[in-house]
Parts: sequence; structure tokens; C-alpha cells
Amino acid sequence: MISRDRNYSTEAIVIDRRAYGEADRILIVFTPNYGRLDVIAKGASKAKSRSGPYLDLCSWVNLELATGRDLEVVRSATPVRAFPSFHDDLQRFCHASYLVELVKVITHAEEPHKAVFELLSRSLVLLDEGVDAWMVTRHFEMALLNELGYRPQLFRCVGCDDEITAQVNAYSAMLGGLLCPACRDLDPQAIPLSVNAQKYLRLLQREGLTAVARLKPTLTERAEIQQALETYARFVADRDLRSLRALHELNLDVST
Ligand SMILES: [Zn+2]
Repeated sequence: MISRDRNYSTEAIVIDRRAYGEADRILIVFTPNYGRLDVIAKGASKAKSRSGPYLDLCSWVNLELATGRDLEVVRSATPVRAFPSFHDDLQRFCHASYLVELVKVITHAEEPHKAVFELLSRSLVLLDEGVDAWMVTRHFEMALLNELGYRPQLFRCVGCDDEITAQVNAYSAMLGGLLCPACRDLDPQAIPLSVNAQKYLRLLQREGLTAVARLKPTLTERAEIQQALETYARFVADRDLRSLRALHELNLDVST
């Protein structure tokens, strides 16, 4: 538990929300200094609420909070940056929903992660600005996993520790890295990856978004890269993600 003043303000991104009673809303927000917080916005569902319109899923806001008995209480909310495209572009909104759900399920309550906050806010801005949603999402998965201590091992075999060579190797979510052909059977569920898919993942891990923007993976390679990262993120989260199911069902995950 982090000690806080009774009243304090913080930037926050809304990573989950639900109606509570007639007029209130319970939100889960992610903040730079306090990590994930549960808050209540009283009256936020009322038509005349001043803060309600700024408390949608994925909203980036400044919150004035008061420490409550069970939940922090929202005293006011003002927007930091709006994401207009999330209202009229279902694909961007679905990707954004996946990013916030990942943060919700992978982080622990009240554990500060400034870098994760920066990664999330920057990624939402990129999605809103129209950058390739598939690429932003893959970068987010990789960077989030790295940041939280689940860095995928892409350079040495997680079975025998030999250096990975340029051939088809398989990604094991359970073991958190690549398996060489000799160790492949250690995880029957490991996902075979072409040389190009492995190159993409390594470049993404080492050099980030700008570096992979130069690459043009084929649809098959995209599917391999996506499957490896999504499967690993789901394994770390230890559950299915509602937003991911929506992305797949609406077929909005691969195409841009
Ligand atoms: Zn091996």
C-alpha cells in the first residue's frame, strides 16, 4: 500500500469500467505513480455529470481523488488527451481495448510502473493517429512483457541454451522463448516460426517500433508473429482476454 494524502491528483488511463447502482461508475485506472487503482465516480452515469463524459474506456485523464474506505473517490476528471478515432473506428477501439485489458490483467494493484504508463499512453496516441494498429499492438505486447520481467528469450534455446540459428525454431509460451529443433518436443504447444518471423521479433525486442516499421512481413509471417506474442501474453495473464476474442471474431486483428 502506497501512502497518499487524503486528497491527491494523478494522471490516469481508464482500463476498465462498470456501472454501479443507478448513477455511479466503478473504474479501474492505471496511473504512473500508484499503478492500478480501483476508483468510484459518483453520479458519473447521470446525464448532467461533469466528469462522466471523460471516463470512458481508454480515456486519458487527470483525476482529483480522495482516499475512501474501500475505493478511491473521484472528485473531478479532466481530459489530458482525447482519442477521437476510438469513437468511430471499431478496429482502433478494439486494439486499444486489448492494450488496456492486458495492463489490467498483467499488472498488480497499487504497483507503480511509470514505464508501463508511458508505454500505454504512447501506444494509445499512435493508434489514434492512425499508425498500423497491428504493429502498434505487437510492439506493445513485446514492450509490456519486457518491462514486467517476462522478456521472451529469442537468442538462445530455452531447452539446451545453445545459440538460436537461422532455421525454423518454435516459440514456447510455457517456457518463455524459442526452442531449437532438437528441444522442440519439450513443449508440444510451441509455435513454429519462420526465420523472418524470428527476425521481426528480435528486431522488435532490441530496437522497437521505428526499426520494425521498415520491415514488411507477409500475411503468413504476421500471423506467426501475432500468434507467438498473443499466446505468450495470454499465458502470462493466465486467462482468456475478452477484447482479444472480440478482435478475432470481428476479424480486425490482422488487416489494417
Ligand atoms: Zn535446444
